[in-house]
Amino acid sequence: MTEFDKIDRRSVLIGSSALLSLAGAGVGAQAKEETKLAASYPPLPYPDNALAPVVSSETVAYHYGKHHKGYYDAVLKAVAGGEFADLSLEEIVRKTAGDPSRAALFNPAGQLWNHNFYWTSMRPKGGGKPTGALAAQIEESFGGYDGFRKEFAGAATKLFGSGWVWLVRDSNNKLAVVPTANADSPMAHGVRCLLTCDVWEHAYYIDWRNRRADYVGGWLDQLVNWDFAAQNLAAG
Ligand code: MN
Repeated sequence: MTEFDKIDRRSVLIGSSALLSLAGAGVGAQAKEETKLAASYPPLPYPDNALAPVVSSETVAYHYGKHHKGYYDAVLKAVAGGEFADLSLEEIVRKTAGDPSRAALFNPAGQLWNHNFYWTSMRPKGGGKPTGALAAQIEESFGGYDGFRKEFAGAATKLFGSGWVWLVRDSNNKLAVVPTANADSPMAHGVRCLLTCDVWEHAYYIDWRNRRADYVGGWLDQLVNWDFAAQNLAAG
């Protein structure tokens, strides 16, 4: 049994220490895709109405145009002229994670990275079951797509407060579903991320009001970008 197997990931909001043990020898994963700060608020890869009806253009206008932009502006302001100004976004997130004295930088930087990952975790007319190597990994790790879907949707529904649900690859090369609170992410602790769903209320409240489970169900069935997950799986 590995450290990861001891974590009850279906009922407990995973903490930083658990994520570190999950990472194991994999610390440093995702180092290949370092993002320059200046390029860390890219245009969306689809029109703002392309995710409707699960994520409407009005939600995109607020979520991408206001919340995400706000995190980008806050990071640029926080690093200006300081020791973090020339680091990649990923380096800033990893160096400030778990340090309460750096929360004023970690929170917007974590949210900036998480949102970039979120927009590319979706695509118009996505969703449904993965194929190829990813399908085999889902089968091995969750006993099939239905097992994955139940675990991901369950984690998203149970997450208390604001946060994210991730599909990750752990240090044993198995896939796992991991929730994180607020601005935290598995990447901040060196864990390879494949997909994420934003379950902060601002991600769904305009379209779904309090029905988070319906948002997540629609997200899984109509928006998940399995090609993006496969790229992340193959990247190292
Ligand atoms: Mn968000």
